[in-house]
Amino acid sequence: MSRNWAGTYEYSAPRIVEATSVDDVRRAVATPGPVHALGTRHSFTDLPDTAGTLIDVTGLPAEFALDEQQRTVTLAGGIRYGVLAQWLHERGWALKNMGSLPHINAAGATATGTHGSGNGNQTLSASVRALRYVGADGEVHDLRRGDEDFDALVVGVGAFGIVVEVTLDVVPAFRVRQDIYSGVTWDAALEDLDAVTGAGFSVSVFSLWEPDTFGAVWVKSRLERDDDAVADTLLDGVIDPGANPLGDLADVTELGGVPGPWMLRLPHFRLDGTPSFGDEIQSEYFVARSDAPGALLAVRELADRIAPLLFVTELRTAAADDLWLSPAYGQDVLAIHFTWHNDPVAVRGLLPDIEAALAPFGARPHWGKLHLMEREAIERVHPRLADARAVFERLDPDGRFVNDHLVRVGVREPR
Ligand SMILES: Cc1cc2nc3c(=O)[nH]c(=O)nc-3n(C[C@H](O)[C@H](O)[C@H](O)COP(=O)(O)OP(=O)(O)OC[C@H]3O[C@@H](n4cnc5c(N)ncnc54)[C@H](O)[C@@H]3O)c2cc1C
Repeated sequence: MSRNWAGTYEYSAPRIVEATSVDDVRRAVATPGPVHALGTRHSFTDLPDTAGTLIDVTGLPAEFALDEQQRTVTLAGGIRYGVLAQWLHERGWALKNMGSLPHINAAGATATGTHGSGNGNQTLSASVRALRYVGADGEVHDLRRGDEDFDALVVGVGAFGIVVEVTLDVVPAFRVRQDIYSGVTWDAALEDLDAVTGAGFSVSVFSLWEPDTFGAVWVKSRLERDDDAVADTLLDGVIDPGANPLGDLADVTELGGVPGPWMLRLPHFRLDGTPSFGDEIQSEYFVARSDAPGALLAVRELADRIAPLLFVTELRTAAADDLWLSPAYGQDVLAIHFTWHNDPVAVRGLLPDIEAALAPFGARPHWGKLHLMEREAIERVHPRLADARAVFERLDPDGRFVNDHLVRVGVREPR
């Protein structure tokens, strides 16, 4: 029996191969029948599942190649961001941004448009400079930014092959402090949402959809010098040195304005700890930042039904990119995330109403989290879905990487 990280989904695949080399991956792909990539298992649905062979790539060797001239690092796809970040930091380099969790692997995270936050920061996928994958023909293929198909394949949700290596953009290492602002009201935030989301390098709002209070605003400020000052107030909120929006979770990276290296501040959770709540379900929807106040008001109408099922909502932003299936394709976005109690029936009962409330804003779902949107609805909000599907069908004409989930959401054609 094998489950996803949260324990909310049990893979039905009869066989899981734990690859420790690219040849292992090639051999597994050469086995007859459907195949699919499995990463660190942090998605929440049947997205990676298959009726054939799951190929777990997290055992590929943790070897890194830094190219300081090109400002890139190349690594095996299944490596966790936290491990990569430590290695880069020791050499004076950094990733442009990180997600909340350092435990997720590079190939799986970038395949689903995983993101951190920041008005000026793109998704983690947008940092992919090149990728190497084993295709349906069992051969190794290389693709670089600018090549035909590249923009279709980066956020490729496992639909065309097994990514065995990624090359990511890097920047010189930098320092960051984290501060929490309490007391920001809905009225103030809706009046000037850009002031909230633009309050630092990366901003997350942790909200419980309370009537007056917008939420705790978690600001990650990039520092030139460790004694750089930050503002004491944010709209009608104030800096709160003792606050931790994630409550008693012990494994949160250091708060309270203490300067530290980028990789110990950009993720919310520490690599050596147990992240998040564990027994949980996550959902997330992306709307254009220009629509953000309206979209938040529409969801707020459902606050009484959301609250009993919710651990916490997190609001983040991402800058536009050109990747066809990216949640930020062609527009700057606000991401509206829900960490739910592990009550799948109740959560599935509420999601259609959240999705209906967000439909007028063209909300796109996070590929890796629980949503109920299917092909027709996704086609309306992802303008390049049909183009991406055509590329996947061309690269994998026999449907080796097709699974039920990808057909449901319109990423692949049914067989
Ligand atoms: C506690 C927690 C915190 C999270 N925080 C964030 C966050 O801050 N931001 C955010 O955006 N998301 C976040 N997520 C969601 C998570 O990043 C995504 O679900 C991501 O897809 C997880 O990648 P994975 O490889 O672990 O997932 P998996 O379930 O293993 O795979 C997900 C998808 O990626 C594909 N895939 C995996 N490896 C490969 C590969 N080598 N080649 C081709 N395709 C591959 C799979 O086929 C599948 O389609 C979080 C999830 C959890 C559980």
